[in-house]
This record gives sequence, structure tokens and C-alpha cells, in this order.
Amino acid sequence: MRTQVGIVGAGPAGLMLSHLLHLEGIESVVLEAHSRHYVEQRVRAGVLEQGTVDLLIETGVGDRLKQQGLIHRGIELSFGGRRHRIDFSNLTPGRAITVYAQHEVIKDLIQARLEAGGLIHFAVSDISLHGLGTSTPAIGFRKGDELRELECDFIAGCDGSHGISRASIPARALKVFERAYPFAWLGVLAEAAPASEELIYTYHERGFALFSMRSPKITRLYLQCAPGEDMANWPDARIWEELQARLATSDGWRPAEGPILQKGITGMRSLVAEPMQFGRLFLAGDAAHIVPPTGAKGMNLAIADVRVLARALAEFYASGRRELLDRYSATCLRRVWKVQRFSWWMTSMLHRFDA
Ligand SMILES: Cc1cc2nc3c(=O)[nH]c(=O)nc-3n(C[C@H](O)[C@H](O)[C@H](O)COP(=O)(O)OP(=O)(O)OC[C@H]3O[C@@H](n4cnc5c(N)ncnc54)[C@H](O)[C@@H]3O)c2cc1C
Repeated sequence: MRTQVGIVGAGPAGLMLSHLLHLEGIESVVLEAHSRHYVEQRVRAGVLEQGTVDLLIETGVGDRLKQQGLIHRGIELSFGGRRHRIDFSNLTPGRAITVYAQHEVIKDLIQARLEAGGLIHFAVSDISLHGLGTSTPAIGFRKGDELRELECDFIAGCDGSHGISRASIPARALKVFERAYPFAWLGVLAEAAPASEELIYTYHERGFALFSMRSPKITRLYLQCAPGEDMANWPDARIWEELQARLATSDGWRPAEGPILQKGITGMRSLVAEPMQFGRLFLAGDAAHIVPPTGAKGMNLAIADVRVLARALAEFYASGRRELLDRYSATCLRRVWKVQRFSWWMTSMLHRFDA
């Protein structure tokens, strides 16, 4: 098997890169460890920044987003039961955030790639990267009982924080900056109409809480909890009791309750791997950096990376020039560090470090 760009991981970074390359007439093959069903159902991010929304629409994958996305022109920060509205319309004229679930973006991108004849191999295993320092890198993988090799010109490592790509770079060539936070988020998806039209970020003496939504019928809520928390300690009644205690405001506002459809615990850490490239391997998204979810930046950052990478690869294939490819890491890292600082600041402002 041969392609121009071999992409590891069918998350937002890998799929968007494959889509952008296709629009530039560049071939790619995506290799994904999980099934299509799994990646299309995995509940994660939900807040899209204006740049992400614009890119999805401009590149023809924004139809459902335009129909179903909930546009928010501000958010609320709550301290001591009193809310303060941050008005995006006044502060950043013409810009807003859109609430649209990450797995819906994934569905849209997979559909677009398959309709355009794109190749995505789901449920592959034993991925290994070879020849990264040569002009003929390759990806080894297993599909069913068969061992295969994908030869390529370049490899994009878009396989998230626990993938194989970052680990394939020799330790001496990589500097990793990391911070673990002494708390985690317990997140729930509830079948309850959102009681507020905007997101509410709450600092409370019992710990942080976030009120958000996924649709006019589904509320998404998060609670600060201990990092090693056992979900068995959190029956639904305790979750609601804690959410009500933290989110209630002095004017009597309360989140509406409903059946909990899904719940999970997410650790919180900041990580940056520098540089984001090694030979013919380019890291993008969570494979290169992790931000705590408080700033809602991770997926937006993943999309920003692959936009830079797609432009650099397009220039290489059109003219043979490597300048943009050579500068890929430096270009991305300017944004990455700003986003890291913002996410750390927002996390520090809203959480109890001693809870
Ligand atoms: C609770 C929570 C809330 C969040 N909220 C927001 C938000 O509101 N806004 C926001 O912007 N971000 C948010 N994020 C972060 C966001 O979800 C991630 O930053 C985003 O998924 C990164 O995309 P990615 O494509 O880089 O990586 P991923 O989405 O992790 O995709 C990587 C893919 O690679 C696959 N893979 C892994 N290893 C291998 C392998 N060895 N071989 C092949 N495939 C492999 C994985 O199965 C996966 O499909 C949130 C995250 C969490 C956990």
C-alpha cells in the first residue's frame, strides 16, 4: 500500500487533516485503532470556537453544524452564588462560540471522507512507525489477521495523548513539559432541558462545577472531584445533590434534573511536546499537547494544528518548497503556549486546589 500522507488516528485532527489534504488534491490514508461506531459515539468536547466553525463551513462539512449548533454570544462566571456575564459580542465583535458535540463533527468528517472516496481503516492494531528520518517512512499495522505496511511521503501523528506517534520519537529529540492537577472532572450527560441558555462556570467552596448543554434536550454537567475517584462512590442522587449545591445561585436558579445517560471521570493535565516534528513525522492535536478542559480549547487547537500542516504539505506538493514544513512546529507552538497559559489560568481561577 502506498499513499502521500499516512495519518494515524481518526479524531478531529486526523480526519480534518485528511479532508483538507483532499481539497488540495493530496492523497491520504487514515488508520484508526477503534471501530467507526466507537469513534462516532465517544462523548468529549462540545465547544467550537469561531475559527473552527468557519473552517468546517468553508470546507463544506458544516451543514449539520449550521442546523443543529447552538450559537452562544457569552458565558457566565459564578462566584459566591453571583453570576458575571462575559459578553463575547461586545468584547470580540462578530465572534461567538458554537455548542456542537465533537462526535457530531467526527460523523460529518467521516461521511465527507467516505463520500469523496477517502480511505479510513478502522479497528487496526499493532501500529508501528518506520523510517522517520528517511524520505520513505512507513506505517506497519494489523487489519484482522493480516499484517500490512503503508508506505508514504509523510506521516501525521494524530493519535491523541496515548497514541504511538509521540512515543516513536527518540526521547533525546523531544522535550516534554507536563503538569498534573490535583483534581479531575466527573462529567454527566443528562436528559434534561438546559435551564440556562449559556454555559455557567462556577467556583464554589466545595469545588468547581460547569453547567453546559449539548442540545435543547440534553444538559452536560461537570464537577471537580479527586483524581483517583471511583465512579462507584457517585450514585446519581449524590451527583445531583452536589451539582445543585455548587451551581445554585443567590437568585434561586437551579439546573433542571433528568435521567443520567452517561457519566465518566477525566483527569486534568497540561502537556507540551517540543518540537512537534521529527524527520517525516508531524504530530498534531492531543498527540503533541494536552490542555485541561476548562478553557474548551483542546479540539480547537487540534483543528488549528492541522490547518497549518495542510497548508505546509500543499505548498510542498505544489512547489517542492519545504519552508512551511520546516517551520510547522514553531508556527503551531506559538498558539499552543498561549492556549496552555489561558487554560492553566482559567483552571486555577475556578478550582479548589485543596478541596
Ligand atoms: C471531558 C472533556 C471535555 C472536553 N471539552 C472540550 C471542549 O469543549 N472544547 C475543546 O476544544 N476540547 C475539549 N476537549 C478536548 C478534546 O476532546 C481533545 O483535545 C480532542 O479530542 C483532540 O483531538 P485529536 O484528534 O488530537 O485526538 P483524539 O480525539 O484523542 O483522537 C485520536 C484518535 O487516535 C486513535 N488512536 C489512539 N492510539 C492509536 C493507535 N496506536 N493507532 C491508531 N489509532 C489510535 C484514537 O482512538 C482516536 O480516535 C475535551 C476533552 C474531554 C476529555
